[in-house]
Amino acid sequence: MQQGKIDEAETAVQKFESFWPRKIVILFGKPGAGKGTQSPKMVELLDIPQLSTGDMLREAVAKKTGPGLASKAAMEAGALVTDEIVVGIITERIKQDDCATGFILDGFPRTVAQAAALDKLLATTGDAVNSVLQLSVPDEALEERICGRCIHKASGRSYHVTTIPPASMKLGADGQPIKESMTDDETGEPLMQRADDTAAALKNRLSSYHNETVPVLEHYKDAGIVQTIDGQGSIDSVWEKLLAAMKTA
Ligand code: AMP
Repeated sequence: MQQGKIDEAETAVQKFESFWPRKIVILFGKPGAGKGTQSPKMVELLDIPQLSTGDMLREAVAKKTGPGLASKAAMEAGALVTDEIVVGIITERIKQDDCATGFILDGFPRTVAQAAALDKLLATTGDAVNSVLQLSVPDEALEERICGRCIHKASGRSYHVTTIPPASMKLGADGQPIKESMTDDETGEPLMQRADDTAAALKNRLSSYHNETVPVLEHYKDAGIVQTIDGQGSIDSVWEKLLAAMKTA
């Protein structure tokens, strides 16, 4: 590219970063609603990172950091970890360069106190949440989704033994998937099942969702930024609906 054109492009980027609001999206939904499945497509489209507090906490647990050790038991039981820990994690994360033009929050905020802390934090840089996209799926559909789910730990890519099986999956004589055959399509690395992807932990996760997380929607409703998308149907059909919602956000 000619120098003139490069300068022009750089000026356009600077203009964009200075004058357009940072794109701050909350991807909202129950465990298993499809947030982890749809968010990579949003990342690709919007070119902003997805920040999953669940992924960050699992990494902290694996690395045995202070916040990780303090959160492990609550996470395995499907309970919420403290607001202080997750707000601290997000506060540090959104300061990083890749969040300069915006970010997609997945699994945060999960309580009204977290939403209030987020608003306050964003206000310090003149920012605010501009879109809350709720993927709506009835409770009854979630156990099957959650209990058949497998994750590629490094990327967060999500598979399901019946709906999105990895290409490598083999079935045993009993017709059940052979665990060792489950590897990530892109890297060939083994997939894992999350410790809280069980029917028992799901009960607790849904109960905290209904009691503590649903009020977060109310918190943002008055700003007119909440949209609800039917999260049932094929992955592609949900994406089409999500895309349509993003265009009007
Ligand atoms: P997720 O991957 O979003 O399903 O999160 C997994 C687990 O991490 C949750 O069940 C909670 O124990 C914990 N967690 C993730 N995000 C939050 C949050 N914003 N507030 C409290 N706990 C969280």
